[in-house]
Amino acid sequence: MGVIVQKYGGTSVGTLERIEAVAERVKRTKEQGHDVVVVVSAMSGETNRLIGMAKELDLDASRREMDVLVSTGEQVTIALLTIALHKAGVDAVSMTGDQMRMKTDSSHSKARILDVETDNLKQHIAEGKVVVVAGFQGRDELNNITTLGRGGSDTSAVAVAAALKADECQIYTDVDGVYTTDPRMVPQARRLDTITFEEMLEMASLGAKVLQIRSVEFAGKYSVPLRVLSSFKEGSGTLISYEEVNMESPVVSGIAFNRDEARLTICGVPDEPSMAARVLSPIGDAGIDIDMIVQNTLGDGKADFTFTVHRDDYRRATELLTAVAKEVGAKGVQGDEHIAKVSIVGVGMWNHPGVAKTMFEVLGRENINMHQISTSEIKVSVLIDEKYLELAVRSLHTAFGLDAEPEEGK
Ligand code: ASP
Ligand code: MG
Repeated sequence: MGVIVQKYGGTSVGTLERIEAVAERVKRTKEQGHDVVVVVSAMSGETNRLIGMAKELDLDASRREMDVLVSTGEQVTIALLTIALHKAGVDAVSMTGDQMRMKTDSSHSKARILDVETDNLKQHIAEGKVVVVAGFQGRDELNNITTLGRGGSDTSAVAVAAALKADECQIYTDVDGVYTTDPRMVPQARRLDTITFEEMLEMASLGAKVLQIRSVEFAGKYSVPLRVLSSFKEGSGTLISYEEVNMESPVVSGIAFNRDEARLTICGVPDEPSMAARVLSPIGDAGIDIDMIVQNTLGDGKADFTFTVHRDDYRRATELLTAVAKEVGAKGVQGDEHIAKVSIVGVGMWNHPGVAKTMFEVLGRENINMHQISTSEIKVSVLIDEKYLELAVRSLHTAFGLDAEPEEGK
């Protein structure tokens, strides 16, 4: 049988007992005849603790040194897990990102993986060893330690799985799979046995944060079969698949939402070429992500732009936009800080043109006003007042037939 890559997140390796439990699972997988590579995160809370210490010394600590610091979290875990594997009678060896030659670019704290050299890894595997690899870290051309951004161990695992052409990349976490929506909000939410890669991208980026979004993109690029499962509960989790859309594909697979949005409008901007770039650039340049952009022109030579930002960026974005408004002679800036985005996601939508209409009817029936709508082939997103978010998600979940059967006992 081929290689299985298993990734264990912070809570799964949060204590020594849990590390021993991980060792047991790895041992079982090995005994089933697979070659196993394990990628681990730092023990839960550890990365934050390390960052906290550095910030106490200097809020503006060097990003290079921050990476040297935070990468130690994963180094602790690989050693402890390897020790636990030895104790369980499993031949195993640990490797840091550097030892494994996880090559990245030089953007400290958010480096991108360029290449994974597998010679060392394969050598150990050929000797029958389980290899325990530190997630989240790599090294650049000049041998500096780099890290991949928060939650980056998911991406490390997918990169290793891609490089080894693994049979499966299993992400063990504290949830037992991907749900039709957040079960904390909708108790009737169901675990999905499979979700397509495209749907997963939408679900992850829209707020169902199970995996680091970059890991999903990476998996898609190399068609790595990716499975999300629980470390604490037996089960087959959710498989992220690359199947073609067919007649049986569900029309709506899930409801994603994002609570913390804010909306800004700049009104009465001169309707001229390149105005959108001029108006939005200062915000992008400040590192603020912009979403759901709409431009409207009424034919009077003026245009309005509306877009959303994360609520944390609202104040800064308002300041920047107000400055631009003066520069270009716009009428003014308006905003709303308490906006939420709700999206229905499903690859089967393309041949069901009535889906958006159903969504609008459901929201209308609940008296929920939509401020903005945007669509793609596999999703429809609307902006609503945050106070109606829960009602909207629950009603849509029911209307699109996603609620679990009551006898399933949830
Ligand atoms: N330890 C890193 C973090 O806390 C990476 C990871 O857990 O994936 O973000
Ligand atoms: Mg994580």
